[in-house]
Parts: sequence; C-alpha cells; structure tokens
Amino acid sequence: MIEKTMSYIGGRSVEPLTGHYASKVDPRTNLKIKDVANSGAEDVDAAVASAVAAQAEWRDKRPSERGRILVEMARILRQKRRDIVEIESIETGKPGREMDQLLDLVAQYFEFYGGIVNVMDGDIINVGPDYHVYTRRDPFGVIGVILPWNAPLHQAARAIAPALATGNAVIAKPSEHTSGSLVAFAKMAVEEAGLPPGVLNVIVGKGSAIGPALASNLDVKKISFTGGLKAGQELGRIAAERILPLTLELGGKSANIVFDDADLDVAAKGATAAFTWNSGQWCAAGSRLLVQRNIHDRFVAKLIENVSRLRLGPDYDASNGPITTAAQFEKIKSFFAIAERDGLKPAIGGRAATGGELGDGSYIEPTVYTNVTNDMEIAREEIFGPILSVIAFDDEADAIRIANDSEMGLAAGIWSRDIGRVHRVAGRLEAGRIVVNEYGGGFVQNPCGGFKASGYGREQGIDALAEYTQLKSVIIRL
Ligand code: NAD
Repeated sequence: MIEKTMSYIGGRSVEPLTGHYASKVDPRTNLKIKDVANSGAEDVDAAVASAVAAQAEWRDKRPSERGRILVEMARILRQKRRDIVEIESIETGKPGREMDQLLDLVAQYFEFYGGIVNVMDGDIINVGPDYHVYTRRDPFGVIGVILPWNAPLHQAARAIAPALATGNAVIAKPSEHTSGSLVAFAKMAVEEAGLPPGVLNVIVGKGSAIGPALASNLDVKKISFTGGLKAGQELGRIAAERILPLTLELGGKSANIVFDDADLDVAAKGATAAFTWNSGQWCAAGSRLLVQRNIHDRFVAKLIENVSRLRLGPDYDASNGPITTAAQFEKIKSFFAIAERDGLKPAIGGRAATGGELGDGSYIEPTVYTNVTNDMEIAREEIFGPILSVIAFDDEADAIRIANDSEMGLAAGIWSRDIGRVHRVAGRLEAGRIVVNEYGGGFVQNPCGGFKASGYGREQGIDALAEYTQLKSVIIRL
C-alpha cells in the first residue's frame, strides 16, 4: 500500500476535507513514493479552531514548564533521529550525512528556546516616584508558520521553537514537496514529549490555497514566512489589508568576497561549499564569488580543483544529492541557456548529471562561470542551484559596490587576514549576516534575516523572542 502524508491537527492525523491527494516522488529516482494531502481552506479553519482552543492553556503554563516540554521534544528528536533523517533524505534527496548534522541543529533550537524562555523578561521603567511602569511580552496567540522545501525541519524548528516557547500555538505549513518530517516530528512532540494536542498543528497542502486562507483567518495573529519573493509578496498584500504582522525570510544572491591577502587554499574550499552545499538549494548560498583581480586566475584554478572533487550521489556520504523538486530542476537547467546567451562558457560543469548510480535522478553538475559581470542575469537572479558566478573586482570600494548592487541582502562572506579591512567591509555590506574566513555560520544563537528584498524580521537567537511576542507597557499610578 502506498504511504500517505496527512495533516496533523489537534493531536490527530486527519484526511484532507477536500478529499484530494497529490503524488510525491523521490528526487533520487523520480519514482513515486507516496500520496500527500492536498488540503484546502476548510482544513485551515479546522486547524485554527484547534489551535485557538489549545493556546489559552499553553499560554498560562509557567515558562519553565513550556521550556521543559521543548527540551523533551529535542531529546526525543535526537533519540528518533534515524527515522527523521530517513524521511527527510528521501523527500529532499539530501545526503544522510548532511541531514545528520542538520538534525543536531534542529534539536538545539528546542533546547535553546526551552531554556532562554525562563529569562525572557520585561523592563521596569523609571518615570518618577508616583508610578510603577513596566513592560511585558505577551504571545500573539495563533501563529502561522509557512515553510520552504530546502531544509524542511531546520526552517521549521527555528520558527516553531521560539513561537511555542513564548506561549503561542502554531499552525505550520511545510512545503507540499517535503512535509513528512515535520508531520512525524509534531506527532512525536504530542505523543511522546507531552506537548498538549492542538499547540502544534501541521497542515499539508499547496501554498496557493493554504497561505491565503491562513493569512485571511482573523484568529491567526501573525505569520512567519520562509520562502521565495513572489509568495512573500502575495502574502504581504493580504497582510496589508488586515495589518497582519509578518516575518519574511526570503531569498538571496549573496556575495562571497575574496581579497588578495586571504588564505587562498582555505578560501577556495569555503567558496566551493558556499555555492554547492545542499546542491546550492540554500537561501544564503554564496552564489556570487567576488575575487580580487590580481589573484583571480590563481584562485579560480584552486576553486575548480575543489569543485572537481565533489561527488554527486544518492548515498549517505555523497557530497551532494539531487535537486529536490522537478520545477526547480528545470529552472536551474534554464540558466545554462541564459549564461550561453550572455556569451559565457562554464569553467566546469554546465549540465545535468546522469549515468551510473545517478540513474534517473535530478542531479546538476556543480557549475562555475568566470568572466561574469554583475549586470548579467545569472548574477542577479536567485538560481537556488549549484551555479556560481565569478566576478573580478579591483579594490575594497569596488568589492563593496558590486556586493551591494543586488536587490537582495541576505548574507555575505569576507575572506581576508586584514582585520581593519574585515571590519570596514562588514560595516558597509548590505546583508543580514556577514561571515568572515568561513562561509555558513548558522548558529542557533545568532540572529538571521534579510536586508532589502531578502525580507524583514529576525529568526534565531534571543532577538527571535521579540518576533513571537508583543511588547506591552503597564503604567500604574501609585
Ligand atoms: P516558495 O515561496 O515557492 O514556497 C515557500 C512556501 O510558501 C511553501 O510552503 C509554499 O507552499 C508556500 N506558498 C506558495 N505560494 C504561496 C502563497 N501565495 N501564499 C503563501 N504561501 C505560499 O519557496 P520554495 O521554493 O519552497 O523555497 C525556496 C525559496 O525559499 C528561495 O527563494 C529561498 O531563498 C527561500 N528561503 C529563504 C530562507 C531564509 O532564511 N531567508 C531559508 C530557506 C529558503
């Protein structure tokens, strides 16, 4: 019998009220693996009603009790990691090794917010002896969390953990392509970690139906959205009508800048990982590599050598897996023609990878284009695949100008041993996260979010507590 992924609402797996299902394939083979619920607006309303009913009691629990349950969710997740790694590897195509590392990060979100909620506090504000004035942080109530497919449980955890810790109930909407791991985790949370039913609901289906229904439901008081610009804009338009608060974590076209004084061997390794991690399906991917002109050729040679060592495959230890969705696979391939139209030739890669153990999977060869200028389409559009644009620059000012010449501003990298230069450039770059002498830096503790069209609001770190609470002043005349 074919497996089914259904929504998990009020502590129960439920069939979609629409009665509809869609097929899900394994991107490593492109064979059907299961049916996935295609829920609609009526399912959203049922989930919201369940969340509203559960939230009042959850809100009134002591923070220490909410925290204890979150930490328990992390413990169970670590214990059951194999099950989750398997589900998510099959659905995304991610190598198991990468999933194993991500799983630790997922658990850390619940441990971090489960602990930190105990010290979340307001302030006492001194306005003179006749008053006692203080602030407190109240939960919103029911929060919608809309998620992409590239790192499903990771993106879910970083929004869900602070939202639950602060006393909200959540309706999470994973991508229709990768909903299995979050449904399994929500079940574990309720059935094994003691999370009250209805506090975390997962609704499975397409964003075009569920997103607008969530945003229009007046009992949903805030939405945290992680995904692409277009869906973020559509959500923003609905939100504007009813003044619905949003956190928007959108795409990127991040600049990774290599100066001539960097350790070039380390930088070449880092620059390779920056555009190929998760087969480039990474919002913060360093997809524009800015290399100082006087080291350009030497550096590119080192880069190509690193890229040539990557091994694509379906197995646990592969460097990279396939592209998760068929639409994304087609989109990435279309950029090969766009690059060719602009007179570019790949220095390595440049096509879909097939043959041998790759079978009929949706693999793309990691691809490097040199001689790119920042006005070319491949340097401006978020490709969300393993395609790198290498752009030469002359000096510090030139690097900053090119890096900032983008609609987006999610992340940036700097490779240099000159500490003064590092601080100067970090101060000038228009991006929410600057990583120096490595590329990545996704810690639970540091806030993460975008400048410009990469979004607004911050996930991760203590700052995320402010995203999931409303600040209230209490002014008492003594
Ligand atoms: P997407 O925008 O297509 O989908 C994201 C989610 O939104 C999915 O659950 C989808 O079903 C839903 N959705 C679709 N249409 C909607 C609508 N009209 N209203 C509300 N929701 C809707 O993005 P994707 O292809 O799943 O993910 C890739 C994108 O996500 C990339 O642009 C990537 O950069 C971005 N992303 C950003 C971050 C970050 O932290 N900034 C992290 C991961 C991914």
